Amino acid sequence: MKELKGIAAASGISTGPAYKIGREEFVVPKEEIDDSQIPLQIQLFEESLIKTRREIIELQKRISSEMGKDEAQIFDAHLLVLEDRMLIEEVISRLKRDRLNVAFIFQEVMKKYVSVFAKIEDEYLKERIADINDVGRRILRNLLGKERKGLSELKEKVIIVAHDLSPSDTAAMHKDRVAGFVTDVGGKTSHTAIMAKSLEIPAVVGAENATQIINTGDILIVDGALGVVIVNPDQAALDLYRVQEKELKGIAEKFLSVKDLPAITKDGSKIEINANIEFPDEVSAVKMHGAEGIGLYRTEFFYMNRKDSPSEDEHYLAYKYVAETMSPYPVIIRTLDLGGDKFLSQFKIPHEMQPFLGWRAIRFCLARPDIFKLQLRAILRASVHGNLKLMYPMISGIEELRQANKLLNEAKDELRKKSVAFDDDIQVGAMIEVPSAALTADILAQEADFFSIGSNDLIQYSLAVDRANEKVAYLYEPSHPAILRLIKNIIDSAHKADINVGMCGEMAGEPSLALILLGLGLDEFSMPPQVIPELKYLIRSITLGQAKDIAEGVLRLSTSREVEEYAQAKLKEILG
Ligand code: PEP
Ligand code: MG
Repeated sequence: MKELKGIAAASGISTGPAYKIGREEFVVPKEEIDDSQIPLQIQLFEESLIKTRREIIELQKRISSEMGKDEAQIFDAHLLVLEDRMLIEEVISRLKRDRLNVAFIFQEVMKKYVSVFAKIEDEYLKERIADINDVGRRILRNLLGKERKGLSELKEKVIIVAHDLSPSDTAAMHKDRVAGFVTDVGGKTSHTAIMAKSLEIPAVVGAENATQIINTGDILIVDGALGVVIVNPDQAALDLYRVQEKELKGIAEKFLSVKDLPAITKDGSKIEINANIEFPDEVSAVKMHGAEGIGLYRTEFFYMNRKDSPSEDEHYLAYKYVAETMSPYPVIIRTLDLGGDKFLSQFKIPHEMQPFLGWRAIRFCLARPDIFKLQLRAILRASVHGNLKLMYPMISGIEELRQANKLLNEAKDELRKKSVAFDDDIQVGAMIEVPSAALTADILAQEADFFSIGSNDLIQYSLAVDRANEKVAYLYEPSHPAILRLIKNIIDSAHKADINVGMCGEMAGEPSLALILLGLGLDEFSMPPQVIPELKYLIRSITLGQAKDIAEGVLRLSTSREVEEYAQAKLKEILG
């Protein structure tokens, strides 16, 4: 039995067999060969090229029938790489010259190609690097005789163990086949962790050497609340976790008993408790957990795991469904927030050194009004079917808000010209998640209908801590006095301008921190649906006066640890 410590990403306990999925980067052995092996190595290379060609044509056929010819065309570029005479001849001549195994030689030649392409100024040619890498990995996989099974092909219920999982890998998981997952890297508020919470899959991320220690078939206990993974537990550990699972169920039942009651403090203040979603079909979970609306609909997930971009009608139908199903409750649709750790293959975004500081969210949308306005028109069209609001991510100052609103007005004009109905008074909010926006909240509040604090990013940008990097996770502190001061400034500025302020980052769903936020005057809390009953229970157990005292108390403290200890002690007092 071994115990690994990682970062608690999505709570819940699960037990089951491990299923390790390899990195798409291969460790390619370097082996010397003699003359007699050269023909065999050339044959191996040729067979791999043929096999890869067959795979790509197969894939192209499937995409063509499922999505259309245009989408399938992207594989033409992959086939061209396979037919590149220069590449093939260079591999064969180096093989003869260096007398090393063909997989190693091929990898070296690929590296050279990629570095040559990377130096070319032409953007189109630069984008071909992705094609070369993709085909290169396929060929290498075939040369080494490795298979990578897709997560959607799993037959039995397993616990996935991987070096890293992208948000789109996670989105492709089925809860009935994946009992949990463990990754070597990642942070608490990475989008992979957020997806796991949404899917209610217990997860531990940043368990640094999990893939080295765990083998496929090992039995694991994943404790997603404590961030612990037990490998091949003994009977005592299994029994202990079974008891804990039962206890957790008991606590959950206590919280669930208030899920359909309003979130009113003991002294009568009504607080809005909303849910975050990534996909329209989550609305049933939202309702089941007693949410009073949707405070964040992350629409970028709509673009993931597909080769094309959704059409205006597809956007419209998804938003209409959510608006109608939630009506009369409000639904805040956030416009496309790609970039950072969320990449969409459709848009061919150039590789960036620091994607979280790069061409992300509203910056991308303002540069691509075609994509942005298509989404805005769809939101506007859906606005007649319920209580829709929209908000822009990553606003860093008033000019961006104005530019986004200018495009919104253009989208409205385009609909007016076609006599398409929409809610002209739709409320438009700004996410406050960049320190410059937090510090100029008074200016932004003059032109926004509401604020929603994106604490996940606000913490990352204010404390200069990558939210997805386990190495610096110890510095990712929501209770840092700097964060509390920024939040206070945002809330006070919003209230001075008479607008509402909510929070849709993970911090809003952390009970001890929620106490502070309540005391600071936050109007709306939005969180993964599963956390809602607990938050409602908490709000119904406290007076606003008590929460204000707690907020005043923590604002006098100087370290995150002091704030955390203080808030935890108060939480204990309140919940008994
Ligand atoms: C946030 O940054 O807090 C937020 C809610 O947005 P996301 O997590 O999608 O970046
Ligand atoms: Mg954000």
